[in-house]
Amino acid sequence: MTVHPSRIYALNHIQEHPAPVIYWMSRDQRVNDNWALLHAQERALALGVPLAVVFTLAPAFLGATLRHYGFMVRGVAQVAADLARLAIPLILLRGNPAEELCRFVLGRPVGLLVTDFDPLRIKRRWREQVAGQLPVACVEVDAHNIVPCRVASGKQEFGAYTIRPKIRRLLPDFLDEFPSLKIHPFPWPEPVPPFDLQRELAGIAVDHAVGEVTGMLPGEVAAREKLGEFIADRLDDYNERRNDPCADGQSGLSPWLHFGQLSAQRVALEVGRELLFSPSVEAFLEELIIRRELSDNFCHYNDSYDMVAGFPAWGAKNVAEHRHDRREYLYDAATFDRGETHDPLWNAAQRQMVRDGTMHGYLRMYWAKKILEWSPTVAEAMAVAIGLNDRYQLDGRDPNGYAGIAWCMGGVHDRAWGERPVFGKVRYMNYNGCKRKFDVAEYIRRNG
Ligand SMILES: Cc1cc2nc3c(=O)[nH]c(=O)nc-3n(C[C@H](O)[C@H](O)[C@H](O)COP(=O)(O)OP(=O)(O)OC[C@H]3O[C@@H](n4cnc5c(N)ncnc54)[C@H](O)[C@@H]3O)c2cc1C
Repeated sequence: MTVHPSRIYALNHIQEHPAPVIYWMSRDQRVNDNWALLHAQERALALGVPLAVVFTLAPAFLGATLRHYGFMVRGVAQVAADLARLAIPLILLRGNPAEELCRFVLGRPVGLLVTDFDPLRIKRRWREQVAGQLPVACVEVDAHNIVPCRVASGKQEFGAYTIRPKIRRLLPDFLDEFPSLKIHPFPWPEPVPPFDLQRELAGIAVDHAVGEVTGMLPGEVAAREKLGEFIADRLDDYNERRNDPCADGQSGLSPWLHFGQLSAQRVALEVGRELLFSPSVEAFLEELIIRRELSDNFCHYNDSYDMVAGFPAWGAKNVAEHRHDRREYLYDAATFDRGETHDPLWNAAQRQMVRDGTMHGYLRMYWAKKILEWSPTVAEAMAVAIGLNDRYQLDGRDPNGYAGIAWCMGGVHDRAWGERPVFGKVRYMNYNGCKRKFDVAEYIRRNG
């Protein structure tokens, strides 16, 4: 068997049968290094049947804008072209994903539906709807995490220190090289119109106010180039430079990882080949594997991952105890959005995100903690931070974002610190701390 059996999770109790196989591609939008697609082909070959990939284009997905749809649709166009070389069609459906997929499958013989894993609520609802309504075997394959989320742990973990030993113990079982896909020998029985990128881009009915970013090319090829360039030029110094927003010391891979155009497992395999046991490799793999998979764990096991209700008990108590604390500055969502606070560093970080679709990791923490400090309530701070993060960051709408914001505001995956106004026991950050870490004036000059 090509795919580790623990990666595969049955979504209903129906048995597969010899009829065409469909891979409903959702979170993992790539051809290479994709366990879900590999499993779909393996079953199709075993059953001697055709295989198709279906992609459902949802209108206005969680507030996504042209910035996100453009990146995604251009990536999917490359997927369609690469699949065509393997004689596997990509079928594009538009509209409510669960409804459109059910309509499509009910209209033809299908022996197995494979999809990928995503812990977000809306994706879970779609999967449940599809698996509940279709008289077809439906399975999910975790193609995003190296150690599958359901396998790494059966419960919400307290923090990196509790999930780390579990993941480390299981890594040797899952961190294996990917096999290649084969040219599929059983042709799809219907004609499939070619993917028309210009038509799809022109037809996207989403918010065009946030435009596409230049400088980050979508798709698997660009992702691999970015990875190669990071390993060659910056990985060596990752540990020293990653917390300096002026230094370009991070990998910059999160947009491609978010859209599934790059597999985290591929990144780990390539990085692991380079500088075994260096502090930089260790620090990078801690973020890529432990922190990233901890975020999936949080969203999978905590339905309130984007709300105050998702905080740990001490974080929720903290919110209640400090709800009447006086805030020195108060801003509404529009002022935050325009980057017009009294703090030039915060404004510069906000402007970088609006302009470039990304913000340095260290500043993301400062940025969210200041929204907490300058909002009337924690609930409003959460809503503003999530709203802006998901609107402007190319990697927004990701478990990493929901976990990161809950970490900043509610102590998720963190411990209690010294008591202070507004923050209570939640870890505090300030301007002077940033000045000690990096050249704040230079950062403001570049982005203000
Ligand atoms: C308030 C806040 C909001 C955030 N919003 C997002 C978001 O919307 N999308 C997103 O992908 N990440 C988010 N993060 C996590 C982290 O800041 C980014 O993943 C990282 O800065 C992306 O840059 P990079 O790819 O160069 O990271 P690198 O430092 O090169 O790390 C490599 C990869 O490891 C993972 N990673 C790194 N740091 C973290 C972390 N703290 N938690 C989980 N995974 C991590 C990411 O997949 C990242 O691409 C957020 C963090 C905070 C504090």
